Amino acid sequence: MAAELLDGATIARQIYSQLRLRVSALEKLGVQPGLAAVLLGDDPASKIYVRNKVKACTETGLYSEVHAFGGDCAETALLATIDKINRNPRIHGMLVQLPLPPRLDSERIMQTIAVDKDVDGFGWHNLGALLAGHPLFVPCTPLGVMAMLDHAGIAVEGRNAVVVGRSVSVGKPLALLLMARGATVTVCHSKTQDLARHTAHADILVAAVGRPALITADMVRPGAVVVDVGINRLPDGKLVGDVDFAGVYEKASYLTPVPGGVGRMTVAMLIANTITAAERQVARR
Ligand code: NDP
Repeated sequence: MAAELLDGATIARQIYSQLRLRVSALEKLGVQPGLAAVLLGDDPASKIYVRNKVKACTETGLYSEVHAFGGDCAETALLATIDKINRNPRIHGMLVQLPLPPRLDSERIMQTIAVDKDVDGFGWHNLGALLAGHPLFVPCTPLGVMAMLDHAGIAVEGRNAVVVGRSVSVGKPLALLLMARGATVTVCHSKTQDLARHTAHADILVAAVGRPALITADMVRPGAVVVDVGINRLPDGKLVGDVDFAGVYEKASYLTPVPGGVGRMTVAMLIANTITAAERQVARR
């Protein structure tokens, strides 16, 4: 039987309509949530991501501003901008679009974002809070995956979840979220021996690697829920995930498409986190 598609665009639309209610409530208190995006260089994918985030802000009633720099921008200028945004009361959430040019120390730069404006949740404070079981801002992609599962009424507790990929922004936080919800979690990565042996036991299989067709139908348990986080541009310009869509579609119970799957949820969660940041900052007034 063919899988049911988890349509990120439809789920995100429903989430945005809930978020608009929270924006209206803040407006009544004289507050418009604000997001600042810092963009370096000319990477076309990064430009598209930032453009999509700004568009989502506008459509949900948020204020947004983009601080764009050339790829050769000095680290001191970047840090000065982050510091200015940290202190700007008009801005409730901030992101630095990754990847940064390799000459810059991304890890260190991310730590200069104020904890209460770190809506991407990549700062050590926010990652540590998640690890400790007291999440503040959770990285948007893992949060979006969980929202998708919840929206489709997919049970997590007691199930075997396999996450392929262990990045700080996707794989690791997602493993923590799944574990917190009672799944038995296996995390696979580039050093994993016999990946298929692990994926074959997954009730919920998440691919977050960045390799087209890494997950093929023979690696998937019949009836598994398959979430494809990967985004890969093929030489012909086509956008695909990490999952061999046609094959896995015939075997999984649920499958997320690429494009139109997790990516939509990531942006929706960024907007949600920014609204949460504004609500928290209002509550402290
Ligand atoms: P990273 O490159 O940071 O991490 C990739 C992970 O995949 C690493 O943990 C790596 O292992 C692992 N890996 C590499 N090769 C293999 C392999 N052959 N078998 C198993 N694991 C492997 O990427 P990100 O986590 O940032 O992103 C992953 C993908 O998700 C990318 O395609 C990215 O574009 C996409 N993405 C999509 C988003 C969305 O909104 N849909 C948001 C963010 C990312 P090791 O740690 O050992 O190197």
